[in-house]
Amino acid sequence: MGSTSFGIPEHRFGSNGEKMPVLGFGTAVFPPVGAEATKMAILQSIKLGYRHFDTAAKYGSEQPLGEAIQEALSIGLIQSRDELFITTKLWCGDAHGDLVVPALKRSLQNLKLEYLDLFLIHWPVSCKPGTYEFPIKEENFLPMDFNSVWAAMEECQRLNLTKSIGVSNFSCKKLTDILAIANIPPAVNQVEMNPMWQQKKLREFCRANGIFLTAYSPLGANGTFWGSDRVLECEVLKEIAKAKGKTAAQVSLRWIYEQGVGVIVKSFNGERMKQNLGIFDWSLDEDELKKIDELPQSRGVTGVAYTSKYGPFRTVEDIWDGE
Ligand code: NAP
Repeated sequence: MGSTSFGIPEHRFGSNGEKMPVLGFGTAVFPPVGAEATKMAILQSIKLGYRHFDTAAKYGSEQPLGEAIQEALSIGLIQSRDELFITTKLWCGDAHGDLVVPALKRSLQNLKLEYLDLFLIHWPVSCKPGTYEFPIKEENFLPMDFNSVWAAMEECQRLNLTKSIGVSNFSCKKLTDILAIANIPPAVNQVEMNPMWQQKKLREFCRANGIFLTAYSPLGANGTFWGSDRVLECEVLKEIAKAKGKTAAQVSLRWIYEQGVGVIVKSFNGERMKQNLGIFDWSLDEDELKKIDELPQSRGVTGVAYTSKYGPFRTVEDIWDGE
C-alpha cells in the first residue's frame, strides 16, 4: 500500500490502478452550518492533510467543496486537482436510467470539476424524479431498475466523467444482483460500519468479490439525527482508549482501518480533524481486537423509507436484506 504525502495509506483499485486515501473527510452535516462554514472546514482539512472528500447531491455540500478546491488551488495548498480524491453520489430521484448522466454532469458543475474519482449510487432505491425529501415519502418511493441504472453508471465511467463507479448501502443480496448484470463491477460499497455495527458478513462478501468496503458513520454519527453516542460512549472502547493514551474515536477509526476497510469521518472542528488523522502510527493488540469483536451489535442508520406499496421495498429490513 502506498500513502499520501501526509502519510495516509492509499487503497489501489485493481481495475484501473486509481489510488484512494483510505481515510476520507465527510461533508454530510447536521445540524446544517451553511456553505461558507462548510467551505472553511474543508479548506482547513486540506491544510491538515486530508485528500479524500465525500459528498453527495443530497448533502448540499458539492458547491462549498468545489469552492474550497478552487481556493486550495489558488492559494497553493495543492498544485493540481489530481492530488484529491473526490466522491459524490447519485440521489434516489435521479436513479433512473436516463437521468444518471445528466445528474453526474450537474454534480460536476457544482464541484467545478471535469471528472470525479468515484460516483456512487447513494441508496438501492429510487424515488420520483425531482423529489428530495429524506426519509423518502411513501408516495414518492419506487423500486430501482438496476439494469438501466447500472448501465448508465457504466456509461459515466466510459465517458470519463468519473474514474470509478460504485454503490452505497447495498446488502450482499443487492450486490449479487448488480454483479450479475455488471460489465464494470462496483469498485466500492460505502455502508455504515463501526465497532457497534461491524458488518462481518458484508465485509467477507466484498473481500471475496474485490469490492472495497468503506465505512460511513465510523463514530456512530454522534450529534446527527441519524446517529447516537453509542460508539463514543462505549465502555469497552473507552477502556481501550485510556490504556493506549488515545480517544474512543481514534480506537474506533483504527479498528475499522485494521479490518482492511476505508473510513469516511466528519469533523468540522480543527482539533478533532487532527485527532482523526492520528490513527496510522499505532495498533490494537490481539486482546483489544477480541474485546471489540465481542461487542453487542445494532445498526444505527435505519434506512431511507419505512413503508411502501411499491415493489419489494416495504421496510428498512427489506432495503437491507438483513445485512
Ligand atoms: P461520523 O463521522 O461517525 O460522526 C460525525 C460526528 O462525530 C460529528 O457530530 C462530529 O462533530 C463528531 N466527531 C468527529 N470526530 C470526533 C472525535 N474525534 N471525537 C468526538 N466527536 C467527533 O458520522 P457521519 O457524519 O454520519 O459519517 C461520516 C461521513 O460519511 C458523512 O459526513 C458523509 O460524508 C458520509 N455518510 C454517508 C452515508 C451514505 O448513505 N452513504 C450516510 C451517512 C454518512 P464535530 O464536527 O463537531 O467534530
